[in-house]
Amino acid sequence: MTKYIFVTGGVTSSLGKGIIAASLAKLLQARGFKVTIQKFDPYINVDPGTLNPYEHGECYVTEDGAETDLDLGHYERFLNIYTTQANNVTTGRIYQTVINKEREGAYLGKTVQVIPHITDEIKNRMQALSASGYDIIITEIGGTVGDIESLPFIEAVRQLQWELPEGDCLVVHLTLVPYLKAAKELKTKPTQHSVKMMSENGVHPDIIVCRTEQPLPKDLKNKIALFCNVKPDAVIEAADARSIYEVPLLMRQEKLDEICLKKLNITWFPEPELGIWEAFLNKLHNPKSTVTIGLIGKYIELQDAYKSILEAFIHAGAINECKVIVQDVHSESITSENVKHKLEGLDGLLVAPGFGHRGIDGKILAVQYARENGLPFFGICLGMQMSVIEFSRNVLKLPHAHSTEMDPNTSDPVIDLMEGQKTITSKGGTMRLGAYPCNIEAGSLAHRIYGAAQITERHRHRWEFNNRYLEAVQAAGMKASGLNPETGLVEIVEIPAHPFFIGVQYHPELKSTVENPHPLFVHFVGAAKKHAAQKKVSGAEILQEN
Ligand code: GLN
Repeated sequence: MTKYIFVTGGVTSSLGKGIIAASLAKLLQARGFKVTIQKFDPYINVDPGTLNPYEHGECYVTEDGAETDLDLGHYERFLNIYTTQANNVTTGRIYQTVINKEREGAYLGKTVQVIPHITDEIKNRMQALSASGYDIIITEIGGTVGDIESLPFIEAVRQLQWELPEGDCLVVHLTLVPYLKAAKELKTKPTQHSVKMMSENGVHPDIIVCRTEQPLPKDLKNKIALFCNVKPDAVIEAADARSIYEVPLLMRQEKLDEICLKKLNITWFPEPELGIWEAFLNKLHNPKSTVTIGLIGKYIELQDAYKSILEAFIHAGAINECKVIVQDVHSESITSENVKHKLEGLDGLLVAPGFGHRGIDGKILAVQYARENGLPFFGICLGMQMSVIEFSRNVLKLPHAHSTEMDPNTSDPVIDLMEGQKTITSKGGTMRLGAYPCNIEAGSLAHRIYGAAQITERHRHRWEFNNRYLEAVQAAGMKASGLNPETGLVEIVEIPAHPFFIGVQYHPELKSTVENPHPLFVHFVGAAKKHAAQKKVSGAEILQEN
C-alpha cells in the first residue's frame, strides 16, 4: 500500500535534489500523508562517517546512531520526524551485505552478479521502510544520471517500476535549464540530453523539475514536455529561492505535490496545512533586530561542513525575530595578538565540533576571550572540550591541561579517551554515536533552557571530560550541569558567574527543526540579543559622557 517516489538528478550536481525531495515530502505531509525520505548514495564508503568534510560536508547523525549524508538533516528539519539507519544506504553498504551473504553461502553456488543480486539488495532496501506504515516513501538517488556508479540504482528503479502495481511508483527528475547571458536565452538541451540518458537506461521520468535562475516561460515548458515525453503540467519550474525554506511554497505554487498524487492514483487529498511553516517564514523575512555570532571552526571556507549549525541558527533567529549573521572565524587565524580585534565586535561565540590538532590553539584563545569578556559562549562537542581545557589552564592554573587527542602525553589530561574506546582500532561507525540520556541539575542554566530534568541528545565523539578533574573544576566555578545517568559522563558544562557560558558534549544542532527550534540555540541567540542591546546602551552612555 506504500507508494514510491524516486528523485533523480541530471546535468550537474548541487542542484538541490535534497531540498526538492524534502519540499515535496513536506507538502505531502502537510496534506496528511505519512511520509519519509531516504537517500541512496552511489559511493563505495559503507557510510559517510569516515569521509572528510572537504569531501562530503557535515556527517549527520540520526537518533539510532547512523552516520549519514547531510541531506538527512534537511529531511528531518523539513519534516520534523526522525530518520534512521535505514534512511541512508550506500553502494558500499549494499556490496557489504551481498558479499557477507555470499561468504555465508546464501547464494547456493550461484554466480553473484550486479543483476540480479546487487539490484535485488537495492530494491529490498528501497522498500524496507514500508514496514513502518508509510503512505509514501521518497527515495533520493545521489549523484547524477550518467555516472557509472549510479547505474545499479537506476536499474533497480527500472525493475521496481515493472514489479510494483501500476500507479504505485513515479520518477521525478531534477535538471538544470541554464541561462546563457551572451545569447540571452534559457537552454533546454542539457535537460533533453539528461532525460534521453535516463531513457537509455530504461527509466522514463514522469515529472521534470527544472532548476533555473530565470522564470521558465510557457513555451519553454511546452518544448521540454514535447522533447522529454511528459505532459506540459509535469514540467515544473524550480527558481532560485531566498531561502531553502521557501521551496515548499514555490513547489506548491507549481503544483508538484498535486501532480505527484494524481500520478500515484490518489485522487482525494486535503489542502496542505502549512500555517506553522508560513508563520516561520514570515518571522524569518521580517527580523526586528540583528546579532552577529562568531563561528570558530577550521572548515570555515566550506558552507556544508557546519550545515546543521547554520540551519539551527536560522530556526533560532526566526523565533527570536532576529537576523543572525554568522561570521566565520578561522580558528587557525586566531592568535593572542589579534584575538581581541577579531572577536570584539561579536554578540556571541560558538566554538564548533571537530577532530584533530589543527586550529586548536585558536579555539582555546577564543574561549578565553568569551569567558573573560562576558561574551555569550556556546561550545559544541570539541568546542565544549576546548572550554574545559581553557578553564583548566587559565583558572585552575594547569598550564599543560589538554586532551589526549591532541597531546597523548599531557600531564593533565582533562579530556581523555573514553574507556570503551581504548581498545577500538577500526574507524567506521565506532564512535559514541546517537542518542543518550542526560540528567540536568535543577537550577542550572541548562535546566532553565530545556525546562526539563532529563533530556536525550545525539552524540559523535571518542573523548570525554575526565572525571578525575571534576571536583577541582567545579570548585573553581565551572559546573557540570548535565551528566549521563548511567556512566556519569559529563554532557554539559557551564559557568554560573558568566552571563551565558555553556558547552555540550553532544550535538544539539542535529535536532533543531523549523517546527521545533532547538532551545539551546534559541537561548543562545536570545543571550546574544541581550549582549547586543547592552552594547548599544553602553555605547550611547560613552557618547553622552563625551
Ligand atoms: N574529537 C572530539 C572527540 O572525538 C570531538 C568530536 C566532535 O566534535 N564531534 O571526542
